[in-house]
Amino acid sequence: MSEDRLRRTLAAGELLFEQGQQGNAAFVIESGVIEIFSERDETRQVIARLGSNDIFGEMALLGDAIRTASACAVEPTQLLVVTHEHLNERLLGADPMTRHLLRTVVLRCREMLAWMRTNAATQAMPQRTAVRTAAGDVDDADRDLAFRRLRTEQELEVALERREFQLYFQPIVRLSDRKVAGFEALIRWFKPGHGMVPPGEFIPVAEASPLINRIGLWILETAFDSLVEMDAVVSDKREPLFLTVNLSARQLTGSELLPALTRQVRRLEGRDCRIKLEITESLMIGNVVEVQAFIARCRELDVHVVLDDFGTGYCSLSYLHLFEVHTMKLDRSFVRGMAVSDASEKVVRGVTRIAHDLGLKVVVEGVERLEEADQAASLGIDYVQGYFYGRPVPLAEAIKKLKT
Ligand code: C2E
Ligand code: CA
Ligand code: CA
Repeated sequence: MSEDRLRRTLAAGELLFEQGQQGNAAFVIESGVIEIFSERDETRQVIARLGSNDIFGEMALLGDAIRTASACAVEPTQLLVVTHEHLNERLLGADPMTRHLLRTVVLRCREMLAWMRTNAATQAMPQRTAVRTAAGDVDDADRDLAFRRLRTEQELEVALERREFQLYFQPIVRLSDRKVAGFEALIRWFKPGHGMVPPGEFIPVAEASPLINRIGLWILETAFDSLVEMDAVVSDKREPLFLTVNLSARQLTGSELLPALTRQVRRLEGRDCRIKLEITESLMIGNVVEVQAFIARCRELDVHVVLDDFGTGYCSLSYLHLFEVHTMKLDRSFVRGMAVSDASEKVVRGVTRIAHDLGLKVVVEGVERLEEADQAASLGIDYVQGYFYGRPVPLAEAIKKLKT
């Protein structure tokens, strides 16, 4: 953007904009003085006199872009321009509720100003209008999304109280003997009158609020209970049975997870089964210091950490040395790739070799056919997970699988 679009210089007495004009920018005063005024019956009513660091004209950026007052420089004035695009770019990163609330506040403000200008002395405030802004469809979509999220958040709160969640378990198979070595715990929500809601639909909502911490604690506690039950039926103890649990960003930075983990791990004393925690590649990269500290605490507790979804984000081996993880889980896109392309197969072989050199075990997820499992075995991969060996099932069924 050119310098003159980002800055404005006004001479004393120069008009910047007039009431009723279409506006598409707000301004920050760097130096000088700006008078904001409205004109009624040909008399000027000064609304404000603003100086350095004051911002004005911001209402034109949200909703209806018509200027509700005029602005004029009282002395030579230097301004920074905040454009519509500038704000929109930032708002895109905000959540829909924030955007919707901002637009609503601006609309209410405009209604109030219009009423004050015309009827305040004689009439009561009119009834509120529904939020309809120049942004139209965009705001409708934001509002729908924001309200849907709010509703889901409230339903999740109730679901936790009413015990509507359940953990399902998907087998992870050791390729050396094709036996079940462990399971991944995957949450399910059985919503009354609606059936099963997949985690992809509600975990992101829970993750955007502190609720994930409480749901996360329930998951952890239930996972440990389930592991103890599973371990009791395992007779072939070639390798300790493990259960992996998925973690969210908020849980990692929250204060409740580690004390709960410490408490739960004590319950496994005298047993050789273990809980492993899955942290996604993108979560690790976005929170390097926090994740490193968390992994260090896990090591003290002898809890293994699994790098989940490897290959969906940066897919970079160069940062692996930053995290002392025990296992690398290759995303299912690798399975699809290596089945159709020699180059992909070479990538998987290379990644597996490097992971092994670093002392990591390798799991690949999304294995749906026997040939894919065989190919994974030929590439040196240690474990596979996927529909071929079993879909996620309730605890009783997982236990049955262990017995066979
Ligand atoms: P994820 O951790 O990558 O979990 C693997 C997902 O792939 C599961 O979906 C699983 O059912 C599915 N899957 C397994 N094998 C196959 C296969 O062969 N083919 C295909 N197409 N898919 C397969 P699910 O259970 O719907 O979970 C989706 C995501 O939701 C998980 O991805 C995870 O990010 C999140 N999630 C699930 N449970 C939890 C939980 O307890 N806590 C947290 N924080 N997130 C969870
Ligand atoms: Ca996972
Ligand atoms: Ca995964």
